[in-house]
Amino acid sequence: MNVKIAYFSMEIALEPGMPTYSGGLGVLAGDTLRAAADLKVPLGAVTLLYRKGYFCQRLDASGWQREEPNEWAVEDFLTELPTRASVTVEGRTVYFRAWQYEVKSAEGFTVPVYLLDTDVPENAAWDRTLTHHLYGGDAHYRLCQEVVLGIGGVRMLRALGHNTIARFHLNEGHAALLTLALLDEQTARDGRNAFTRADVNTVRQLCVFTTHTPVPAGHDKFPLELAMRVLGRKEIPEMQDVFCYDGLLNMTHLALNLSNYVNGVAKKHAEVSRLMFAKYPINAITNGVHVPSWVSPSFAALFDRYIPGWREDNFSLRYAFRIPPQEIWDAHCEAKRRLIEYVNRETNAGMREDRLTLGFARRATAYKRADLFLHDINRLQAIAANTGEFQVVYAGKAHPHDHEGKEQIKRIFQARDALKDRVQIVYLADYNWALGALMTAGVDVWLNTPQPPQEASGTSGMKAALNGVPSLSILDGWWIEGCIEDKTGWAIDPGPVDNDRRTGPDAAALYDKLERVILPLYAKNRQGFIDVMSHAIALNGSFFNTQRMVLEYTLKAYFR
Ligand SMILES: *Cc1c(COP(=O)(O)O)cnc(C)c1O
Repeated sequence: MNVKIAYFSMEIALEPGMPTYSGGLGVLAGDTLRAAADLKVPLGAVTLLYRKGYFCQRLDASGWQREEPNEWAVEDFLTELPTRASVTVEGRTVYFRAWQYEVKSAEGFTVPVYLLDTDVPENAAWDRTLTHHLYGGDAHYRLCQEVVLGIGGVRMLRALGHNTIARFHLNEGHAALLTLALLDEQTARDGRNAFTRADVNTVRQLCVFTTHTPVPAGHDKFPLELAMRVLGRKEIPEMQDVFCYDGLLNMTHLALNLSNYVNGVAKKHAEVSRLMFAKYPINAITNGVHVPSWVSPSFAALFDRYIPGWREDNFSLRYAFRIPPQEIWDAHCEAKRRLIEYVNRETNAGMREDRLTLGFARRATAYKRADLFLHDINRLQAIAANTGEFQVVYAGKAHPHDHEGKEQIKRIFQARDALKDRVQIVYLADYNWALGALMTAGVDVWLNTPQPPQEASGTSGMKAALNGVPSLSILDGWWIEGCIEDKTGWAIDPGPVDNDRRTGPDAAALYDKLERVILPLYAKNRQGFIDVMSHAIALNGSFFNTQRMVLEYTLKAYFR
């Protein structure tokens, strides 16, 4: 197939057995490719191989995280292509190959994915490690990786014969250096030896940029002297307004300057991004999840019976209202049984299937506030004693360098021990795709407590909604759009508060909802609870999916 849209992403979750992703960004990229294949969008993708994988998480008795390597059998999943290409790093030529993966739709349409690999005998020892680790190493290692991804990715696509690409989609700023490769193509075509402002305008027409991070610290940036050492390009200091911000090579600003369509990943996130980057028009395309990948087996069987064609036409999930409530409940109980069996097997916790079960799983990092729920141990004990019992399933990896994220996991272990006589809490190790699927389908309520406005979108609540699991969440990211109070779930909303001092008020608002609304509904009005489940599927499952999302990209960004 001739690729028309080239999708670049630092990480992509392609299969549960391939540790080529760390979390939300990679899962979104994979779900995007799966939906593009379903919709027959002529898209191809570029990423790095990560032969050593993203790490396996082990947790000691105190909850302290240790990382173990996660090597995988590359040859079992991928086909090596004979083509070679190269980039220049610190004046050296670094060669690389590509391994091909095919994302296949049910109808057999394929989206090719090229995973770049510098571990070839032509290279010096250190250069061979450049595509080994996802988010490992220092800024220097990362910049070299981004040279391979961005510049190398364009060169590999050309070497493979993809010469009619109409759009380059930068999924986050990591791949922004692809613009440098496109600028070089432009000058080479005209027989010149340096690019001009006019070339910048030409290349801008080719690029689409999706930003994912509403905090400036989350954006990739590199000191100019490091950029010069690695890239050796005099245009970078000469055109600082294009490449830099505050005197640093800034991948977000480079991507903003070289893209003619820019979007945030939820309406609120686009608003926040417009405040951060006032010079640029920023659109909103709200994230989604790939429906067939995240519906549990029991709900898939139920949808097959009542909503034929739901896999091909995700909008038809709106007909979930047709499904008899008892059958929704039965499908849920089956998904819940699978989760509880897993929990009890892994942890010996003795969790019960008839107890309200809350789930929280995402990257362990400060702004996600995994421990917000545990803010007031006494209040939780009182709710469990006076209103009704509940249990909580946690999971999530901290980035190896994220000390605060690791401390957060330890605090959850401490709270678990403090609460053990009244509220059962488990923290499952090694959160990944398979565990994500088990948890988002198997709990009764999905909990989400980010510090606003830092949750760009969030997607795990969308996976839960598809399985009839309502969210109890802070109003941030996608939940501002997805929450219809008492219909699709519940907002944790303390009213107007000082954003720096919102932990207490947020926790109190959460406890109030749990105590006054959710526990009574679950225990005393099962029909009412199932009604919320139906609405979660019909209103949110039918919309917050990557089929709708890729259609939006296609209409607004790719072919306009
Ligand atoms: C869906 C998913 C994520 C992203 O979750 P958010 O809600 O966006 O934070 C991260 N990791 C895994 C394994 C997932 O399946």
